[in-house]
Amino acid sequence: MTGPSVVIIGAGVVGAALADELSARGWSDVTVVDQGDVPATGGSSSHAPGLVFQVNGSKTMTEMARYTAEKFVALDSFLQVGGLEVATSTQRLAELRRRHGWAVAWGLEAHLLTPQECAAKHSLLDETKVLGGLYVPTDGLAKAVKAVDAQLARAQGRGVRVLPRHEVLDIRTQDGKVCAVVTDHGDLPAQVVVCCAGIWGPKVARMAGMELPLTPLAHQLAWTGPVPGLAGQSEEATRPILRHQDADLYYRERFDTLGIGYYGHRPMPITADEILAVDEAEVMPSVLTFTPGDFAPAWEETQALLPDTQKAEVESGINGLFSFTTDHLPLMGQSPDVEGFWVAEAVWVTHSAGVGRAMAEWLVDGHCSSFDLHECDVNRFEPHQLAPDYVRDRGCQNYVEVYDIIHPLQPMEHPRPLRLSPFHPRQRDLGAVFLDASGWERPQWYDANAPLLDGRDLPTPGPWAARYWSPIVGAEAQATREAVALYDMSALKRLEVSGPGALAFLQRITTGDVSKSVGSVTYCLLLDTDGGIRSDVTVARLGPDRFQVGANGNLDLDWLERHRPADVFLRDVTAGTCCLGVWGPKARDLVQPLTGIDLTALKYFRGARGFIGNVPVTMLRLSYVGELGWEIYTTADMGLKLWDTLWSAGREHGVLAGGRGAFTSLRLEKGYRSFGADMTFEHDPYEAGLGFAVKLDKGDFVGRRALLERKESVRRKLTCLLTDEVVMGKEPVYDGERAVGYVTSAAYGYTVGRGIAYAWLPASLASPGQALHIGYFDQRVPAVVAEEPLFDPAMTRLRG
Ligand SMILES: Cc1cc2nc3c(=O)[nH]c(=O)nc-3n(C[C@H](O)[C@H](O)[C@H](O)COP(=O)(O)OP(=O)(O)OC[C@H]3O[C@@H](n4cnc5c(N)ncnc54)[C@H](O)[C@@H]3O)c2cc1C
Repeated sequence: MTGPSVVIIGAGVVGAALADELSARGWSDVTVVDQGDVPATGGSSSHAPGLVFQVNGSKTMTEMARYTAEKFVALDSFLQVGGLEVATSTQRLAELRRRHGWAVAWGLEAHLLTPQECAAKHSLLDETKVLGGLYVPTDGLAKAVKAVDAQLARAQGRGVRVLPRHEVLDIRTQDGKVCAVVTDHGDLPAQVVVCCAGIWGPKVARMAGMELPLTPLAHQLAWTGPVPGLAGQSEEATRPILRHQDADLYYRERFDTLGIGYYGHRPMPITADEILAVDEAEVMPSVLTFTPGDFAPAWEETQALLPDTQKAEVESGINGLFSFTTDHLPLMGQSPDVEGFWVAEAVWVTHSAGVGRAMAEWLVDGHCSSFDLHECDVNRFEPHQLAPDYVRDRGCQNYVEVYDIIHPLQPMEHPRPLRLSPFHPRQRDLGAVFLDASGWERPQWYDANAPLLDGRDLPTPGPWAARYWSPIVGAEAQATREAVALYDMSALKRLEVSGPGALAFLQRITTGDVSKSVGSVTYCLLLDTDGGIRSDVTVARLGPDRFQVGANGNLDLDWLERHRPADVFLRDVTAGTCCLGVWGPKARDLVQPLTGIDLTALKYFRGARGFIGNVPVTMLRLSYVGELGWEIYTTADMGLKLWDTLWSAGREHGVLAGGRGAFTSLRLEKGYRSFGADMTFEHDPYEAGLGFAVKLDKGDFVGRRALLERKESVRRKLTCLLTDEVVMGKEPVYDGERAVGYVTSAAYGYTVGRGIAYAWLPASLASPGQALHIGYFDQRVPAVVAEEPLFDPAMTRLRG
């Protein structure tokens, strides 16, 4: 098998990894083109200092880094000197403990060190400046150019062609598919083109009509002259690579000198079009002139942390260019518009081999089985997130924040506000505290609900969980179960699927039987061909050939669009519509007098269209909070009227507005899973406790065949744990001293009166009553596996 003809644009560390991984899987009709010389092309890989710190809040990124380190060790392109991150503030010390939790959760060996242990590992450190450290023994230095060379050599051995000094000028398409790459040496026919052009990515992608949300930014890297403490060092590096994130700094040795990287300077973005050509650049295209003024604070901080450098000089430096995205994650996948045009962009050396492997699996097998790519897919963005201003602002901000301590709920500061639901003016009047959800301003709680606190004794979580939190969250959660509340659900994606082929299409693409009568609502899943969960959706049949799909994000739209036959129409109706969840025991008392729809006759998981007062609505009897009520949809222009109608009628029933904080607590009490946090592409429905949403006997559907096998081999389970402490998610779970899993979502359950944490655990440890511990900063929080759902297992509230 030689596979289709593939052209990889870019022989940096990403293009080289992809060529190696593709050819290893039997695709050998592969050509790698680069405008520069190979292996030192003049791109970012040619001057990267190559520090590989593997720990990351993203499980996927950690796993890709681990794969890269292991592969580079095998290629003799890695100095495994370990990695040390030090804390000089109490906040950073806590953050290192959190990062240690991630490492353990994702299965990476890591150790917390005392100041003395830090100094023993890195003799240049002034231990009096350090409060502690995080040490990862398998971290180290990637020799990027050597790794490029080694991977390309292996690929060439399998028949891959490498064409240096070939500049790509254009990409030809025919009938919506790529057919050739135009270079300054002529055309290269291609069925698949992969853009691995690094900082030039936006320019190259534009040749295929694709906007890449990526910003090249200059980053300072300086080299000292000889440092006395390193005198006579004959090996390139012996001490661990070092990070001093409190001052935006990192360090590596090079014999008796030090390389110093600095993120503390002003952002210096440029556009891909501004990058100089290979032969025009003084040093190389990705290197700009060093600006010493920007580096001054870095040198001062360095001399304080590593006193020996006071006897050294900064001898040289660069402002080197590399890519930043709007969310710190890479851009991988196929263009939505041009078949066969793929990108692997905004990738650090650290993750490069992992990305190469993931892309190769995706191309050859149709999906990636080694890593969960839902965070990395280039089609994850909402349209506004592709606006050039947004891309640049967020790229710059992410540069500034690269080492900052970011709370999981922390919203971006700029640009805001972006997307406002029609309810926004009323929410603001009620003192909503807004956080960000895909650009939407979404209330977390409402200060106007403070009087609800009277007479309630609500526990305060620890300091980390208490950020972006108020006791009002608890009061809103409890009051929802007592009366009735309005929840703004507008931020969730809504898709309209219609046309003569709509039913057959949805039967094939989802796991549920959506062929039920008009008015039915079905909770089901989108699966990949390997049975992995791509999303969970609710499909409402609004007409014989018309469905509303409640989805999770843009990837769902992309997935449906890619599979859509010609007789099906697909429309994202999110922006033109809005949704209020009206939930609570008094929901029917509130809504029934306002509508002609017989709400008692409207059973659970059924929908109806009608009016609430003057507002045309679609009502679906669903509830993610586990209470009687409906998701009520209308067009955006009528949203405010819908809110006002429900609000004024609800006064006598004690109606309140509920925020996302309360929603999450209520959802976890009911055990409702959230895609992206609780389950992702790597999990199947049976492991995730969602087997009920799979109708194996309805006929064939995407993923069915794989599920038949996976159903019989459930080895891990998404499990409900009860705790006395509120954790936040991504913490490791221990059985004794052994790390056995990790937390997905967590919150306090204000009805059940306990902390709730969902976690992935081996099936053997998932039985109710099993005692475990959760690693939370420096604590081991006792946790016990509980029967789920915790609240109203008989469903009396929902069906009432
Ligand atoms: C100062 C600095 C320090 C860094 N430190 C680290 C670090 O310590 N650890 C880490 O993990 N990462 C680090 N990085 C980031 C890392 O270097 C990059 O993210 C990585 O090298 C990108 O690899 P790439 O293959 O995507 O891009 P590149 O190496 O830039 O390769 C892209 C290739 O595409 C080619 N190309 C572009 N356009 C065309 C065209 N039209 N025709 C033909 N060829 C084309 C270019 O010539 C280039 O060779 C650092 C970056 C900088 C600047």
